[in-house]
Amino acid sequence: MTAVLELKQIVREYRSAAGVLRVLDGADLTLNRGELVGLVGPSGSGKSTLLHTAGLLEKAEGGQVLLEGEDCMALNEAGRTRLRREKLGFVYQFHHLLPEFNARDNIAMPLMVGGVSRKAARQKAETLLAEMGLAERADHQPGQMSGGEQQRVAIARALANDPRLVIADEPTGNLDPETTERVFASLIRMARSEGAAVLVATHNMALIRHMDRVLTLKDGKLTDFSQEG
Ligand code: ADP
Ligand code: MG
Repeated sequence: MTAVLELKQIVREYRSAAGVLRVLDGADLTLNRGELVGLVGPSGSGKSTLLHTAGLLEKAEGGQVLLEGEDCMALNEAGRTRLRREKLGFVYQFHHLLPEFNARDNIAMPLMVGGVSRKAARQKAETLLAEMGLAERADHQPGQMSGGEQQRVAIARALANDPRLVIADEPTGNLDPETTERVFASLIRMARSEGAAVLVATHNMALIRHMDRVLTLKDGKLTDFSQEG
């Protein structure tokens, strides 16, 4: 069976006047269909760097990224954008919604860019908003919603294209308990019912209990957290 995501010997470096900071140094990961995997570790250990690399938002200096067997390192920016649109859902720590569009269109827009009709895209958006308990907020712009509501719209947007790979970077960092529950429920559903591979950086123990595996970063490599001792 082809893995959803494979990272092989990933190297990531940041260069500045102070020199070269190697954040990832031979990170390996295989994520299969239906797997829900956690990523924990102190601030600055490289979690966001790893997730942005796996999510094709940033390019590695070395190693291989394979998405359903396709070599992403060989792709140009247009090819990476296409794969993101077709196969990936990314939930940022801060929501990155478009301020001038309402909730429905924030979700529908990426689908339309991907070739879905306006009608079908808006229908999908409304279904997802209802699932998130936001049916009444479809016409509201981000500035007219609470932080928790905005993050729920962002989750709906990330899941709208039925992604094979869902990546979430501390998605419940600043949320109230009810929103946190809804966010967890949708991430768990994506793995258990939809068969997506789901990778989540989080410190929330309630979510970690649902994980198949929990990983941490050590010296720029991924290791199994349960074997940390
Ligand atoms: P985490 O998400 O675990 O907090 P990050 O991946 O954000 O960690 O950061 C890992 C390290 O890389 C930190 O030391 C951080 O300061 C550094 N870093 C992150 N992004 C940049 C950047 N754009 N330029 C320089 N250094 C960066
Ligand atoms: Mg981070």
